[in-house]
Amino acid sequence: MDALIPSPHLIAFEKLTVSGLEMTIEAKTTRTVVHCPECQQPTQKVHSSYRRRPRDLTTAGLSVRLLLQTRKFFCENSDCSRAVFCERLPGCVEKYAHCTARLNQHLIWMGLALGGELGARLAGKLGYVVSASTLIQRVRNLASSTKNPASEIKVLGVDDFALRRGCEYGTLLVDLEKHQAIDLLQGREAAPLIEWLRQHPTVTTISRDRAPAYQEGATIGAPQAEQIADRWHLTKNLTSAFEEVLHRQASAIKTHWQTVYADELLPTAPLLPPEIERVVPPTPSEYVRSRADQCKRQQWHTIRKERYEKVQELKAEGLNIAQVARYMGVSYSGIRLLYEASEYPVIQRQAPGSGVEPYDAYLRERWVAGCHNAQQLHRELMAQGYTGSRVTVSRYVYPWRQTDGIIVNGAVISPSSLKPPKRKIPTARESVWILLKAKSKLTQEELQSREQLLKIEPIKQALELVEGFRQRLAAKKEGGLEEWIKLAEAAVGNPFKGFLNGIRRDYEAVQKAFTSLWSNGQTEGHVNRLKYLKRQMFGRAKFDLLKARVLNAI
Ligand SMILES: [Zn+2]
Repeated sequence: MDALIPSPHLIAFEKLTVSGLEMTIEAKTTRTVVHCPECQQPTQKVHSSYRRRPRDLTTAGLSVRLLLQTRKFFCENSDCSRAVFCERLPGCVEKYAHCTARLNQHLIWMGLALGGELGARLAGKLGYVVSASTLIQRVRNLASSTKNPASEIKVLGVDDFALRRGCEYGTLLVDLEKHQAIDLLQGREAAPLIEWLRQHPTVTTISRDRAPAYQEGATIGAPQAEQIADRWHLTKNLTSAFEEVLHRQASAIKTHWQTVYADELLPTAPLLPPEIERVVPPTPSEYVRSRADQCKRQQWHTIRKERYEKVQELKAEGLNIAQVARYMGVSYSGIRLLYEASEYPVIQRQAPGSGVEPYDAYLRERWVAGCHNAQQLHRELMAQGYTGSRVTVSRYVYPWRQTDGIIVNGAVISPSSLKPPKRKIPTARESVWILLKAKSKLTQEELQSREQLLKIEPIKQALELVEGFRQRLAAKKEGGLEEWIKLAEAAVGNPFKGFLNGIRRDYEAVQKAFTSLWSNGQTEGHVNRLKYLKRQMFGRAKFDLLKARVLNAI
């Protein structure tokens, strides 16, 4: 039975009773000598005994309560300020606690893994009654009671994250050797990083992103440490620089596309086969309602019928309209129809498609041309003088959504068969992906675009530079950076001028990126985990709570 109770070396099992869904375990403390919490002197002199009733882990689906006989002792040290003290049971039940230490630990794990709301819901399913705010409080207490274990850190990863994008940022510090997030700092300026680094003088290597604030922070806070510009961010910066090059080439790309794909660029192909004679086909005889719509209407009718019956009941009791309206808490005019009707008043449906018929041919034409957006169609009809609502238009075209082919001028036409092939001019961002993605992952059309993009000389040259940079970075060869800078400077028009300036500002760290083994890849992983936790807390997490969950994640 000792297996059932926590800390059998401190307390002894006495009796077990089960009543309903609750198990009560009686136990008592067993030590003969205890130590005063104030002066640490041993004592055996019992003052009195009393009972504590902490909750414990559920067992076999039963909620468990300990009935713990515990004692108060006299402190026999005459110099001590404490005369009487309660026996301490560390690791079993903490002082003042209403649950055992092991149940507390389980609740903390739930809070860490799931946050307050979700953790409390899981706890409820497992048989514990605990509120979201209690769980959060326990996580907070844990965070304030644990000391920073990062005293012996050597290789540090530094990256920023957004608490609120555009407003509030933080800095995440990762022990790259132990693959562990070790601290969160508020803000992404140099000052907090400097302070942290001064408190941790063992850091010898810092892998950081290329923000000037981190460069400054690392230089001042840890002058002894070697700094490495992170390879992931370097590649990211280069990709942005490449995108800018493509931006500058936008007009060249457009001209090139217009000459190569002159026929395919604009959807000027005739929308309707010209041989089909223009006759207005019959309109849909009945609205087809969507299932959700039908459901909603049915509910509405049920409520209305109930209300009608209630009104009639009150009317039979002799109440007038005003009294009925007051009794039911609705307006006079709202109740009048139901009051006066001799039987349940059915609402007359408007004739299907009323007002839309004159535009039927136009609607069909637009539908076949690929415009299936009822709002857009409504706008277009309004421009032609239509005065009805968007919903009416939406209902009118609803049956067309259900079938692939619709009748236009007497012939069944499938919209998909008539869509003209479109050739889009790729944007700068799309071009970046088309050029940098592995060729095996590109679609046929993307491959064609890639081929055409490379026919534009400055783009071809810039791509060669980007690829050269990535290859040298991956090869980790001494002198790779110097070699690439020479190539980039020699290129026509110096397309990567801004990127080169950035490298020069942070030259030593970038050079290390070409030779060092450390990278911030795992810091990015930790940042992603942090974002996941932040979103789980619906973005409302206070900094300390987020920190507790990131650093103590299970
Ligand atoms: Zn004492």
